[in-house]
Amino acid sequence: MNGFNVGDPSIAAAGSTEAKDTTDVLIVGCGPAGLTLATQLCAFGDISVRIIERKSGPLEFGQADGIACRSAEMYEAFGFAERVIKEGYHVNEVSFWRPGADETPLVRADRIQDVEDDHSEMPHIILSQARVHNFYLENMAKSPSRLTPEYKRELVSLTRKDDRDFPIEATVACPTRPEDTETIRAKYVVGCDGARSKVRSELSLALKGESARQLWGVMDVLCHTNFPDIRLKCAVQSADQGSILVIPREGGYLVRLYIELDELVPDERAADLRGQSPVELLDTYSTERRAKAQELIDFDRDMARLFSEKPKTKKDAAQFQAYFKKHGRYTAGVETRYDASLIRGDTRHQNLATGYPVGQRFHSGPVIRLADAKPMQLGHNLKADGRWRIIIFAPRMDEGDAN
Ligand SMILES: Cc1cc2nc3c(=O)[nH]c(=O)nc-3n(C[C@H](O)[C@H](O)[C@H](O)COP(=O)(O)OP(=O)(O)OC[C@H]3O[C@@H](n4cnc5c(N)ncnc54)[C@H](O)[C@@H]3O)c2cc1C
Repeated sequence: MNGFNVGDPSIAAAGSTEAKDTTDVLIVGCGPAGLTLATQLCAFGDISVRIIERKSGPLEFGQADGIACRSAEMYEAFGFAERVIKEGYHVNEVSFWRPGADETPLVRADRIQDVEDDHSEMPHIILSQARVHNFYLENMAKSPSRLTPEYKRELVSLTRKDDRDFPIEATVACPTRPEDTETIRAKYVVGCDGARSKVRSELSLALKGESARQLWGVMDVLCHTNFPDIRLKCAVQSADQGSILVIPREGGYLVRLYIELDELVPDERAADLRGQSPVELLDTYSTERRAKAQELIDFDRDMARLFSEKPKTKKDAAQFQAYFKKHGRYTAGVETRYDASLIRGDTRHQNLATGYPVGQRFHSGPVIRLADAKPMQLGHNLKADGRWRIIIFAPRMDEGDAN
């Protein structure tokens, strides 16, 4: 395990595994958000965590099966990217089908690289969300607290209490036996309970935003077809029959079809828990992430609108492809840049690293670690183990002068 003790290094020494009625963090919901947070918090043996889910067990069928390069980088930090890469379908190229000249209903207009070189060392992957959830659950089970989600547990209400240590009281029920209720007192409750969040409504917060008027059907099918690009991601835009997105699935057989239906009618953080940083650091999460989430929503809306538009001219038809290409870095999730905050400095020292804009997500690349001369991907060294890291680069052409 460490050159002295043998064992599996991915299994941490067990700490306290007892579920108490008080906890530092109560996470509501076992979707991707809840499981990511729980896995990260598990790295801190001194923070107690409980995670509840109203469903009866782990996810069986996924929706979020498309894994952007940036998500795969995050899985690397959690130590399971290799398995995702091995099992998943790799979206390396995209083909665009549009109406051709002379009444030809559809022709392949182009076939392009999906993720441009140097965006990330990770591919764009398709793998069942249920599988990714399993990897998170395995990590949690190997952590010091051996954390497992508590299924059939639904958050019913939240009450603020006059208690300095555990100021929030959560009432939790079993959906099949609502009379079975439990009270959990927590320092923090994190609402990872999806679009119709009970945590949000208990805090009397309104859902701000807008909904798109487009309706899409999504299904995984086994196609018997002579369509030549069935094993490629394809954007198919017809003249008057709507659009279809074809995304091959892992395993080599099924494809997922996103089919445009008729339009809808209009009516229808851990450091502060350990005392290492001020509590105000939690507030920066909203300012940092809200702006990014809004960009993503805007981008998704524009992309869906362009895809659905019935092209009148050849130029119109090429617009979706041009937009797709232009925003490749963005869809890969590697374009994030944070504004100055408590944890992001200003740009007064930018001249020291002109190739790395301050606040920009750190790009991985092949490097040689000075201490042991090991060639490696820089990003693979940044594990999600809760440590703060300082990375120092030698100047270009530095040969390592012993003096
Ligand atoms: C058809 C479709 C396709 C998609 N494809 C992709 C894709 O390819 N890639 C991608 O990244 N995203 C995709 N998404 C989006 C993705 O599914 C969501 O962004 C993601 O699931 C949001 O994660 P979450 O953890 O915030 O919430 P959710 O996944 O909604 O999870 C919330 C969890 O909380 C539980 N819960 C709710 N209320 C309570 C309560 N009161 N008590 C206890 N538990 C509760 C729910 O049962 C659920 O398990 C797709 C979505 C859809 C609908």
